[in-house]
Amino acid sequence: MYDVVIIGSGLGGLECGVMLSREGYRVLVLEKNPVIGGCLQTFRRHGRTLDTGIHYIGGLDNGQILNLYFKYLGVMPALDVVRMDTDAFDTVTLGDREYGIGMGYDRFADNLKGYFPAEAADIDRFCSLLRKVGGTMSVEGLRRGLISDDAMQYMERSAFEAIDGMFTNPILKNVLTGTSLLYAGIKGKTSLYHYGMINHSFIESSYRFVGGSQQLADALSAQIRSNGGEVLTGTEVTAIKLQGDHVSGVEINGGDVAGGTFIEATNVISGIHPATTFDLVEKTSKIKKAYMTRLHTLENSCGVVTVYLLLKPGTVPYINRNYYIHSGDTCDTWQTEYDTARDTPRAVLFNMQATGHGQQFADVASILCPMNFDTFARWESTTVERRGAEYLDLKSHLTDRIVDFTLRRSPELREVIEHIYTTSPLTWRDYTATPQGSAYGIVKNCRSPFTTLIPINTRFENLLLTGQNINVHGALGVTVTAALTCSKLLGAEYIAKKIGNA
Ligand SMILES: Cc1cc2nc3c(=O)[nH]c(=O)nc-3n(C[C@H](O)[C@H](O)[C@H](O)COP(=O)(O)OP(=O)(O)OC[C@H]3O[C@@H](n4cnc5c(N)ncnc54)[C@H](O)[C@@H]3O)c2cc1C
Repeated sequence: MYDVVIIGSGLGGLECGVMLSREGYRVLVLEKNPVIGGCLQTFRRHGRTLDTGIHYIGGLDNGQILNLYFKYLGVMPALDVVRMDTDAFDTVTLGDREYGIGMGYDRFADNLKGYFPAEAADIDRFCSLLRKVGGTMSVEGLRRGLISDDAMQYMERSAFEAIDGMFTNPILKNVLTGTSLLYAGIKGKTSLYHYGMINHSFIESSYRFVGGSQQLADALSAQIRSNGGEVLTGTEVTAIKLQGDHVSGVEINGGDVAGGTFIEATNVISGIHPATTFDLVEKTSKIKKAYMTRLHTLENSCGVVTVYLLLKPGTVPYINRNYYIHSGDTCDTWQTEYDTARDTPRAVLFNMQATGHGQQFADVASILCPMNFDTFARWESTTVERRGAEYLDLKSHLTDRIVDFTLRRSPELREVIEHIYTTSPLTWRDYTATPQGSAYGIVKNCRSPFTTLIPINTRFENLLLTGQNINVHGALGVTVTAALTCSKLLGAEYIAKKIGNA
């Protein structure tokens, strides 16, 4: 009998596993894949390590919020990370012009004022607004016993409207929203909270993992084990079992024909999509059809096609910043999904993977292109490696278009590509079990926060939710959500102070 069984070994599941095992709970984390980590997982092709779902993380400088969480989780000393370029950790490319996003608020503001001197006063006002939003989850707040403080006021405000109302220069507005594909921003839906919290943490400091993000999953799993907990791979939860109004445990590796194994648990935490979670719950009158329909019709963020460029060793200088490349300076930077009518990307994120400290050359670059699931919907019922020739043709066509778009200003890079490897939203769906291969889970809409922000508590007192579908996605959002989930068992003030004083 376990105190807590956790479904999924993504960042959220593993972090809950560490927090609860540290507090003496007997924890078991169950992962369907052979390798732990979900979006943190890396894989190997032609001798290179390829990242999947975390390319950089924010707030990791000493004394900053994610640093403190990772210290509390016991993983900070194990992480091998490289701080990105201070003068520009991100570059927003609009047509032929590049705008460097500086790290630290002074550099951030100075860069913007250099490009847009007439807007200097408004840039200062904007920075203080971002700091306020980012400050809703702060080291000081944690020390006072608050995981998050007064965030709701920003969840109901649209990021688009806040920026639109603050600035007049359309190019500046585009620069400020030029990284929207990082947070799957949607004009009029993405809240000031999501925009501000994510951008604030990256402006404070941005880091890449050296050798890939798998190390974070491995470090978290090692902590769980050293606290006496267990992490099992190749173990799919196929049902959540009930006894009366309570969850009694989970069935693993069952199926239509094979009977699975039952694991008894006092509490179950699900780190997977809420609709998938409730599909697993045994039939009961407690879950109404209308509730299931609601979960299944919630909008999911778009998927991503990732194109990995495996570069000839020693040929391409390593660049320690990301490039958000848009089609032109008058484009709408909130609209980033591949333009199927014109058969061209609207925006991509181009970056290089860090393989060492002070490295001279890059051996892998990746291009992330947001993609609507409809493009791949006809292969919905297929599985990996069995999707047929037409699917491969489409993937190859999209790869060409995405590479052309990305390298349009440096076509010579094509000559130094040794291999190309591409994944689609279907790859993602099969690998993380996220409906429609959505990259960032449920779209949280500032116009209807109460229906699109799914609560951690469920109809079953001992079934809790965590992960990117709840609250905010990304390394910081998922980490804070894990603390909120564990606070339901440990008490919010207790866990906040423990983290704050780590
Ligand atoms: C392409 C991409 C790029 C991104 N880039 C960044 C970035 O640069 N920086 C950043 O901060 N964030 C980034 N993110 C977001 C970030 O990766 C995610 O928000 C976060 O890692 C999600 O963690 P999670 O725990 O919610 O879920 P997941 O990582 O999806 O984990 C869920 C786990 O549950 C497992 N599972 C599913 N069903 C079952 C079952 N029935 N039984 C057992 N196990 C099951 C899955 O296999 C998976 O391992 C990116 C995301 C994507 C997709």
